[in-house]
Amino acid sequence: MKRMTARYDGRCRDCGGQLYAGDTIRYSRATGALHADQEVCDSYLTQRAEMELETQAEYRMAGLSAEQYYADRDYERGVQVGNDY
Ligand SMILES: [Zn+2]
Repeated sequence: MKRMTARYDGRCRDCGGQLYAGDTIRYSRATGALHADQEVCDSYLTQRAEMELETQAEYRMAGLSAEQYYADRDYERGVQVGNDY
């Protein structure tokens, strides 16, 4: 894994957080582009987990099923476009 400067906006393969052109990133063919610092990924993942719990609670309050929640979440993931560095 080497450090380099991102040439395009994209998403971190580890945490799914945003990477911006000009950011320092970690990169290898095997892993794709990652945030330069593991702490950044960790904080994104913590944030994501909290948001996911919140969203699940909202679905429950709205009377929607867990299946609906997972279907929407997979759909959102499916339409995300990954960049090649
Ligand atoms: Zn990351």
